Amino acid sequence: MTENRESALLADVPEGLFIGGEWRAAEAGATLTVSDPATGATIKTIASASVADGKAAMDAAADTFPSWAATPVRERAEILRRAFDLLQERKEDFALLMTIEMGKPLAEARGEVAYGGEFLRWFSEEAAHVQGRYGANPEGTGRMIVTQHPVGPAFLITPWNFPLAMATRKIAPALAAGCTVVIKPAALTPLTTLYFAKLLQDAGLPAGVVNVVTTATSGPVSEALIRDPRLRKLSFTGSTPVGVALLKQAADGVLRTSMELGGNAPFVVFEDADLDKAVEGAIAAKFRNIGQACTAANRFIVHRSVADEFARRVTERVNGFRIGRGTEDGVTIGPLIDDRAVAKASQLVEDAVSRGATLRTGGKAIEGEGSFYEPTVLTEVPQGSEILREEIFGPVLAIVPFDTEDEAVDLANSTEYGLVSYVFTESIARGQRMIERLETGMMGLNVGVVSNAAAPFGGWKQSGLGREGGAEGIHEYLQTKYTLTPNPFA
Ligand code: NAD
Repeated sequence: MTENRESALLADVPEGLFIGGEWRAAEAGATLTVSDPATGATIKTIASASVADGKAAMDAAADTFPSWAATPVRERAEILRRAFDLLQERKEDFALLMTIEMGKPLAEARGEVAYGGEFLRWFSEEAAHVQGRYGANPEGTGRMIVTQHPVGPAFLITPWNFPLAMATRKIAPALAAGCTVVIKPAALTPLTTLYFAKLLQDAGLPAGVVNVVTTATSGPVSEALIRDPRLRKLSFTGSTPVGVALLKQAADGVLRTSMELGGNAPFVVFEDADLDKAVEGAIAAKFRNIGQACTAANRFIVHRSVADEFARRVTERVNGFRIGRGTEDGVTIGPLIDDRAVAKASQLVEDAVSRGATLRTGGKAIEGEGSFYEPTVLTEVPQGSEILREEIFGPVLAIVPFDTEDEAVDLANSTEYGLVSYVFTESIARGQRMIERLETGMMGLNVGVVSNAAAPFGGWKQSGLGREGGAEGIHEYLQTKYTLTPNPFA
């Protein structure tokens, strides 16, 4: 029964490129295969775009831009709202599809559908609230008019870890602002974006406004698009090294960019924290998405007086996890995205243990089919361990003890990343000091998950440029024009 439902769903996902409102095969029939990380089995074969296919998508986005930009805001907003409604109707299918191609447990996939959908609703509401200004210049000789305009065709590149939400977080504000787009999902999880493009078609989106190129050759296809003089905007979510490479390409054309890059989030537990809240927050901040979130807590910086009790409680919770394919009832930890991710987690844990960290639980890859790694807790992780410097992107909770508030702040800030931090304290003054002292674009103060469509999501330092969501998100796709006219009374 379940297998039948999965096959019917996979058969319903388009396998072509979506260009100019049509589904088409790639040049020379090139394909790529998508597999289930829980079993390693191939689940679907889809088109793999060439540079020429990417150019065709760019042609469609550029040709459609004038008419989409001129479409009344209300019409654009209502299409987004219809897309939101359709997503609610199809939420079980989207959740199952993400679980199959990415591995996250079904309950979490449902959470992502809810979160991802909110960007459609939020930007359908924001679309009509873009404001201009009119006023006299200080000298009184003229009138200044400030207006906002869609920046133009945009290229959106998304990662594999949140296949729906990373797409809607970019597509919704772009469309609300009046931009057309070419979106390139990650080759590991392209099916959700293809299925979402079909939903947009059903919501009445005109042909050519959203174009999807799936490809096994991201580098050349993306570079040709980024260097296309008709492109006006690049929005990328992914790792910092790839973001840096794309920024260099974008620099030649002085392209507007938004970069949502990697993280190395500190999770600071003070001696005055409510430990129940801290443990709850830690489980969410670390193990959601099997640790594969840019916002995942990477370093648990815990006051020495509560470090042991905190470690005991999180270990107890981790030992109660159920590991398996995300479609199975009660599973809380699914597979990692691929065997490379398993090898990386293994290597980081081995490095920490070899330097003197204590392994409380887990610590090994799981033999058999699929890319599974045991949920792991490490304590007394020594400074210098690679796991404190690198984004773990796996279910490994690494604890470092501290003694003073200054030391906690220094440890938390000692990274080139600055996406998010988590702080647990019952002291209001200390919480306020942390807001001012921690160098991150977002903070969870006594909470372990911060993402919300209404909030400006984004990082400081090498975690990125720009913001997605909130009132800020739509401005990533708008450009400002200032016009001066003479004083009409002069
Ligand atoms: P990645 O950088 O490997 O890939 C991201 C996207 O870029 C994919 O679509 C990929 O196909 C494409 N890509 C890869 N190499 C490319 C190249 N040379 N030229 C053009 N495109 C290329 O990242 P990933 O492994 O898919 O995702 C995980 C990373 O994403 C982590 O570092 C995570 O922190 C980050 N991330 C950040 C946020 C955020 O909002 N800050 C959200 C989710 C994920």
